[in-house]
Amino acid sequence: MDDWNIDRRSFLAATAAALTAWPPHAAAAQSVTTPPHDSSFDPWIEVRADHLLHNASEVARFADGRPILAVIKNNAYGLGLLPVARTLAQSKAVRGLAVVKLHEALTLREAGVTAPILMMGPFDTRDVADMHTRDIMPMVYTPIGDVLARAAQGAGRPITVHVKIDTGLGRVGVPHREAADLVRGLASQQGVTIGGIMMTFTEDAPFDQEQLRRFEALAADLTRAGVKIGARHAASSYTLFQHDNALLDMVRPGMVLYGIYPEARFRAMKRLELRPALAFRTRVLYVKKLAAGDSAGYDRAYIAKRDTWIATLPVGHADGWPRVAAKGAKVRIGTRQYPVIASVSASHTIVEIGADRTVQVGNIATLFDWEDGSRPEDVAAACGASVYDLTMHLGGHLSRHTV
Ligand SMILES: *Cc1c(COP(=O)(O)O)cnc(C)c1O
Repeated sequence: MDDWNIDRRSFLAATAAALTAWPPHAAAAQSVTTPPHDSSFDPWIEVRADHLLHNASEVARFADGRPILAVIKNNAYGLGLLPVARTLAQSKAVRGLAVVKLHEALTLREAGVTAPILMMGPFDTRDVADMHTRDIMPMVYTPIGDVLARAAQGAGRPITVHVKIDTGLGRVGVPHREAADLVRGLASQQGVTIGGIMMTFTEDAPFDQEQLRRFEALAADLTRAGVKIGARHAASSYTLFQHDNALLDMVRPGMVLYGIYPEARFRAMKRLELRPALAFRTRVLYVKKLAAGDSAGYDRAYIAKRDTWIATLPVGHADGWPRVAAKGAKVRIGTRQYPVIASVSASHTIVEIGADRTVQVGNIATLFDWEDGSRPEDVAAACGASVYDLTMHLGGHLSRHTV
């Protein structure tokens, strides 16, 4: 049993060490000064630290100074876990960081990030002691009070958890009707502190309000019974635009911190002035002229109506550039926008240049960035994608530069 424990611990340490070294460009991603490759045609991501900090301040301003639990799950929505964590941790508005994979929480700690971390994803109860040693707070919703109490005792200090309440999303979380008993049970354990109770909205606006009533009734019951429930939190990015009465004690956004409006209608509301914190760029690989009637793409998805120049970009759906980009997205090269044509394949995208050869091999092509017309929201709207699909699928292999 002891041996097994040691193995498990060394496994966790090895996993964290291996992950810290991945992706291979992690070192470049952490550098603040590395400019985009001058020689590589491979697509890359630029991350604007100033925009991340601006967006965090904007959210704090809008939320009347409520602290932010910054959601940086899934490689910080594609921007890169460590540079984003290090930047956001500098913001006075940010109280902690939230992830949904244990390996991300471990990577943050191995890299020396000291901010509070809430791990909202799955974990094995055998890992609780290791998480606690590293100050990684678990999100819990099952009766594991004895496991938590043992971890607290083992470390000689209390363990803090946040309890997830299911008020209608049906995903994870203790059903709201059973939640009072569970929270009371957890809170009664020696060395266990409830740092917060939390929920997620279905984003069905009228039903959201019913969910909020359930959540607030539970919080009131527990408080009346003398149970310390910590911070109540529910607000994702959507909530900031939709439900002013759901900001509670702490807000828990992801997408808006990256400067992206989750839905087009939210941008028009002018509640938050968000600045996209990432750019996705590549270089023109090849330029050629098609004669009228020539085709491009698998299945001859594009047929030239007249003689035209086209350019091939070395980026495709394997990098996270969605296939639907071929349904209306435009790519900026120089100061002009060029439509994506044919189909997006694993590693190639083709754009139509027109009658004049206005682009050259090696020119930088911007798939999206922070300029009006090229924002992720603009690209998403042009081709019917979701902004979540544009960032969250960006390949872990892409090099990332903080600018
Ligand atoms: C992803 C996530 C968020 C943040 O969502 P956004 O729409 O990006 O703001 C908040 N809470 C939980 C539990 C999440 O999984």
